[in-house]
Amino acid sequence: MKLWFFSLLMLAPVLAQTYDVVLANGRVVDPETNLDAIRNVGVNGGRIAAISASPLTGRTTVDAKGLVVTAGFIDLHSHGQDAENYAYKARDGVTTALELEVGVNPVASWYAAREGRALVNFGATSGHIPARMAVMHDSGTLLPRDAAATRAATAGERKETYELVRQGLDEGALGIGMGIAYTPKASREEILEIFELAAQRRVPVFVHVRSSGPAEPGAVDALQEVLSDALATGAGLHVVHITSMGLRQTPVLLGMIAGAQRRGLDVTTEAYPYTAAMTDLGSAVFEEGWQTRNGDITFGSLQWALTGERLTAESFVRYRKQGGMVIIHSIPEEIARLAIADPTVMVASDGQIEHGKGHPRGAGTFARVLGHYVREEHALTLMDAVRKMSLMPAQRLGIQSKGRLQVGADADITVFDADRVIDRATFDNPAQYSEGIPYVLVNGAFVVKDGQLEQNVAPGRGLRR
Ligand SMILES: [Zn+2]
Repeated sequence: MKLWFFSLLMLAPVLAQTYDVVLANGRVVDPETNLDAIRNVGVNGGRIAAISASPLTGRTTVDAKGLVVTAGFIDLHSHGQDAENYAYKARDGVTTALELEVGVNPVASWYAAREGRALVNFGATSGHIPARMAVMHDSGTLLPRDAAATRAATAGERKETYELVRQGLDEGALGIGMGIAYTPKASREEILEIFELAAQRRVPVFVHVRSSGPAEPGAVDALQEVLSDALATGAGLHVVHITSMGLRQTPVLLGMIAGAQRRGLDVTTEAYPYTAAMTDLGSAVFEEGWQTRNGDITFGSLQWALTGERLTAESFVRYRKQGGMVIIHSIPEEIARLAIADPTVMVASDGQIEHGKGHPRGAGTFARVLGHYVREEHALTLMDAVRKMSLMPAQRLGIQSKGRLQVGADADITVFDADRVIDRATFDNPAQYSEGIPYVLVNGAFVVKDGQLEQNVAPGRGLRR
């Protein structure tokens, strides 16, 4: 009698449990546990509370039959950090969008401006570029245009820059961001010092390396610089957009990274699934020699984001003075595909849409990997794609509660149709939502439901170290 009563007591809460949200009968894919099976997922209080083969009861139940249910995607490289961009992110299955390459400065006010207002989770590194721009009074906005790009820092400026970056870490930044190609006069010693700071604070450095392309200075020596700095200091290193730096040398760079990993170095990398890069035409990237650094391209390989026009020698000079985003058609298709399929490479967008203009990666990166490279091209498996979009980024950040479709994890969840998911954004019309991603939850709240954005919701939270 006593035993019977005890068993009933144990069972009762399980039987009576009603979850906030139940995603019923979906194909649950979780790379860490290698789960790929039909399950019911129960969400309570912003967390995943149950994953069960038997039915669950929810206040809201979504029929996920025929759909894939995974941890929400984590975009490590998302320059667009406003409502317009968060909407594209959510429709592309991204539940966490992070500005880790350029980073921000100051950090605390950046987080405060978004807290309670964001559709998806957000976060940033403490940026060496913005700190250097502030100290050296550069006139650029996102990227340096003059002083921070064109001259070495004085000893005093270097110290001040270092202090600002350090302060950003004190304010909760997720690591340190660097774009050495945009601050080409930053000495190797200045860069090494920033790695030392990262090592002291046990945070990774996210870096756009000093140069690109096959010639020297180029991609190989640029990667050697940061690998040495990581080795010498012990700082973790994440190399951004490996394909736009390496171009045809990308396999060489990937070999260097894999070799460093085998020797125990904490180094990772990422790529976006496109054959073009994008940056500010007014930046240092377009100083003398830009054609070679981008794999022997010409003016016609450049596309002005605002109008979609291809550039000429004349419009290049005019727009470079003005400054603005330019798409660089420089990455061979086989290189884009090879990187997306490579097991060391995470998926990250480098995206930014501004008033509907920009590069399609800002809207379509994650759906493109799933629809084009997994379903159409068979370049990688669905499980591996999900790993590159959720688990690996979470591991890079050292965040246990995200990137996993597991009990106890944050309920950042993406539900997509593996047969239909596809990007719609193009170089000529980037402002198009991805399709085939009918449900997205952020911290347990729907941000996409029945394929549409939810209105007047802001469940995104700031991710801090
Ligand atoms: Zn970059």
